[in-house]
This record gives sequence, structure tokens and C-alpha cells, in this order.
Amino acid sequence: MKNDTKVRPEISERMKKQRIADTKPELEIARACFRLGLRYRKNVEIPEAKTTADLIFPRHKLLVFVDGCFWHGCPWHYKTPKTRSEWWDAKVERNKTRDSKKTRKLRRLGWKVVRVWEHVEPEKAALRILNKTKD
Ligand SMILES: [Zn+2]
Repeated sequence: MKNDTKVRPEISERMKKQRIADTKPELEIARACFRLGLRYRKNVEIPEAKTTADLIFPRHKLLVFVDGCFWHGCPWHYKTPKTRSEWWDAKVERNKTRDSKKTRKLRRLGWKVVRVWEHVEPEKAALRILNKTKD
């Protein structure tokens, strides 16, 4: 029997991705930037660095990455999980190494890069981004 109420798998997959991509800190930072008059696009792929920027400010050739405190190993908020501790520590360490490699690569390609911890107040993050556009 055909079941029309079910979402097609590829759509459901896309919706899931969208939810992950539009995490709250990113959205709030984006809105704060908008209030400062900065115009951006969200979730833009940068193929030459095999990465996706959370925000891109094309006019300023500026990319913003909002880093989750857990996955990116925030010095204030990353806490080693109680189970599989070594595995998690190693994984987050790898993420950090990958982050800094990507940042360096993007800078070499001529992008300005701002990385913001998700715990930073959106207004403060937006001001940092604004300052960077004036560099
Ligand atoms: Zn944090």
C-alpha cells in the first residue's frame, strides 16, 4: 500500500541536515550581524577547502565558523565524557587539529576567517565579525 503521509527518505535526510545546520547560536549570531548591517549567506560550501562555512560575508571575503563547545573542544566547556573517555578526547583533539588546518588553508586562499565559540554572546560575536570586515 502506498503511504503518502511518509516523507521521502531524501527529504527527511535534508530536513535533518537543515536542523543540524541551523543550530541556535549560529542563527542568533547571524541575526545580530544583520542588525549591524552586515549581509551574509548561511551554510555555504567552500569546495577548495572541502568545508562549509556557517556564515559567509561575500563583500568582505569573510567566513565565520561557529564552533560547538563540545565537538570543537572549548577550553571552558569541553568535559571528557565518563565512558570511552580516551576515545572522545582523541576524537575532539582530531577535530581541533582539522579546524586549525582548515582555518590556515582558507587564509592561504585569501579568506578572512572568524571562529566563534557557541557560548559567546551573539552581540559580541557580531561585533568581532564587524571589526574583522574593517581589517
Ligand atoms: Zn564554550
